Amino acid sequence: MRLILLGPPGAGKGTQAKILVEAYGIPQLSTGDILRSAITAKTPMGLAAKEIMDRGDLVPDEVVNGIISERLDAEDCQAGFILDGFPRTIPQAEALDEMLEDKGMALDAVIEITADSDVLVERIVNRARESAASTGARADDNVEVVRNRLNVYRELTAPLVGYYRAKGLVKTVDGMQPVEEVTASIRAALPN
Ligand code: AMP
Repeated sequence: MRLILLGPPGAGKGTQAKILVEAYGIPQLSTGDILRSAITAKTPMGLAAKEIMDRGDLVPDEVVNGIISERLDAEDCQAGFILDGFPRTIPQAEALDEMLEDKGMALDAVIEITADSDVLVERIVNRARESAASTGARADDNVEVVRNRLNVYRELTAPLVGYYRAKGLVKTVDGMQPVEEVTASIRAALPN
């Protein structure tokens, strides 16, 4: 199963990806998680990405395209994968198409998880408050940054729904349902 989870920040992509990892035995490829690990490890890529992420802007396409291209070659991705947070722009989606073609892979579905923007701001701000107690607090989760992330989503990422709809791949799921119901809707939408 080769999937993309698409949706605004806070819609529950990460939560659903982790559940689907268990259900299908395939890895979650989260560019956000990989970038945060690079920041923690203070690698050159992490150092360059930190300021951009703290503002809620997108890191350059070449950086995330490189991360994903390398990741897709790993053994654990050969039976499938769940892309969470990638692609986020049309050029990233085009780069992914090329990568998959080169590697002889094809997407099975793009799951669009929809969510109400007021609820999203609340969810992300709460997530920041909860994590602020621990050392892993995300500096990109204050209200102004959250609004920027949502604007970036609307402007640069939302057009991907049309891009993948034209390929007949999009299944839309209501992300405002309880977590288990979102999972059930996703599973019902996926090919057997
Ligand atoms: P996420 O955990 O997916 O919400 O990502 C956190 C932050 O990492 C984003 O706000 C971006 O700054 C950066 N990021 C993650 N994935 C991408 C991507 N595909 N393209 C550009 N920037 C990304």
